[in-house]
Amino acid sequence: MELRRSRVIAVAILLGLLGAVIPIAAMVYISRAITVEKQQDSLARVAGQTIMRASRTFRDAKIALDSLAYPRLPPCSPQHIARMRVVAFNTISVEEVGYFENGLLKCTSWGPASGNVRRVAADYTTPDGLDVTMKVTPAVAMGNPVMALHYGAYGVLVDPGRFVDVLVEDHISLALANQDGVPINSLHSPDPKLVRSLTGGPRKGMTDTLLYAVARDNGLIAIAMEPKANLSGKLRDEQFLLLPVGGFIAAFIVGVVIWLSKKRLSPLGELAIAVRNREFVVHYQPIIDLKSGACVGAEALVRWRRPDGFLVRPDLFIPLAEENGLIMPITDQVVQAAVRDLGPLLRSERALHVAINLAAADITSGRILDVLARTLAGTDIEPGQIWLEATERGFIDIEAARVTLIRARERGHIVAIDDFGTGYSSLQYLQGLPMDALKIDKSFIDTIGRNTATSAVTSHIIEMAKTLDLKIVAEGVETEEQAQYLRAHEVNFGQGWLFSKPLPASDFIDYYRNNKTRSGSGRGGIRVVAA
Ligand code: C2E
Ligand code: CA
Ligand code: CA
Repeated sequence: MELRRSRVIAVAILLGLLGAVIPIAAMVYISRAITVEKQQDSLARVAGQTIMRASRTFRDAKIALDSLAYPRLPPCSPQHIARMRVVAFNTISVEEVGYFENGLLKCTSWGPASGNVRRVAADYTTPDGLDVTMKVTPAVAMGNPVMALHYGAYGVLVDPGRFVDVLVEDHISLALANQDGVPINSLHSPDPKLVRSLTGGPRKGMTDTLLYAVARDNGLIAIAMEPKANLSGKLRDEQFLLLPVGGFIAAFIVGVVIWLSKKRLSPLGELAIAVRNREFVVHYQPIIDLKSGACVGAEALVRWRRPDGFLVRPDLFIPLAEENGLIMPITDQVVQAAVRDLGPLLRSERALHVAINLAAADITSGRILDVLARTLAGTDIEPGQIWLEATERGFIDIEAARVTLIRARERGHIVAIDDFGTGYSSLQYLQGLPMDALKIDKSFIDTIGRNTATSAVTSHIIEMAKTLDLKIVAEGVETEEQAQYLRAHEVNFGQGWLFSKPLPASDFIDYYRNNKTRSGSGRGGIRVVAA
């Protein structure tokens, strides 16, 4: 019992802890995942915008360069220079246009070139044929190095700042590179080593310290990065929303666990488990033929053996089982145990019977008869070897009881009225019921030899039973004096501590065999007075 209690409590505590921790941990995890996802999405947007801007800059430069090829104007003529100036002016990203011949700068949008300016070597070529040089110091110095894009005889200078000219928060850094990972420009100084390692990587991700998103298009790669440390504020916002949900779920689970374990730990909960686990054993109390001293039967008395081995008396759980519909499965288990325990003995000893106690639900429903039929089928136990004990408490629905008892007798069972005399009903009232035997309650047997008013009732009951031709069993016979009295009044059977207490099945079988050899097998054998 204690074992099971502590196991239930241990399991409940464990489940309660898990139920409390898991939802909260899950919400912490989910809010972090959501925050990371959201941030990566916004980084992906930034990277996408960067790529778009860079692509547009390249495309505009290409359009500008294409537009210079035609119409052909006399190189470095005033019209030619004017035209280059118009292009430089009209193309937002282009700062300056230059015209080259044999690798030498001839003139620019500013005018004829002075000195020997060579065309710079390309760092790489874009998919649409632009030769790109990352860092060039322009002929007309503006200080900052610029990017040169060459196509045919022309070159344009582009301010690389335009590529990463997107509006981002200070903690977000940006890098733009070509498809080979050659850096084009960056914003908020990202770690170049990291940038290189990310150019070939997946679209989104995180390192130990950073979240990042990568966008690719038109031979360009843009990477937006943000330190993880930056998440905490947003994480808190997310947790503020989700943690109460986790707390609510946790509280709900803990509540359910407490409710379930309370239910399990309640006597009724435990009894229900006992029924499911078939924790019942049956003891057998010998019923003695008072004249011969021979054991003629046994009453099956149920006990609940708890997992720790402790035996619980039936008065402590039968009423609870009766109130809660658990009695019928218990009766079934008693029937099955009796057939299993005493089957061989009943087959070899046809005069022996076993008496089963029926509860009101068994009698009213009559369902016990089918259980009996099923259990007895193929066992070669005769129906007459099974006695059914019904108390007056079982006659709540007297008509239903009558039907069940009639059917029981039709099937050959012996019907005994149990605890007779303790109820309100008179023998007259019971007379209408089909029955074979009367069990006189212990309280009447107790009065024998005591000069009380009820002791007179005892002899009355005996006489009336005899006139109705009922067999009589006296319950709770504890003294030889009582046995003597009952014999003198020709009561057929006795049951009580004088003969034996209820015994486990194997002890009862031993008792039966010993009693048989002592009392002799014949009728009217030696009378035995048990100690
Ligand atoms: P009951 O049917 O009147 O059973 C007789 C009770 O009296 C048994 O108690 C038995 O051990 C006890 N008893 C027998 N001889 C003596 C004696 O000489 N002196 C004393 N002091 N007691 C004696 P038990 O086994 O504790 O059963 C108590 C009650 O529980 C039973 O009373 C019966 O009403 C109920 N019960 C037992 N087994 C079952 C069962 O399988 N089904 C149902 N529905 N009720 C059962
Ligand atoms: Ca009984
Ligand atoms: Ca009784």
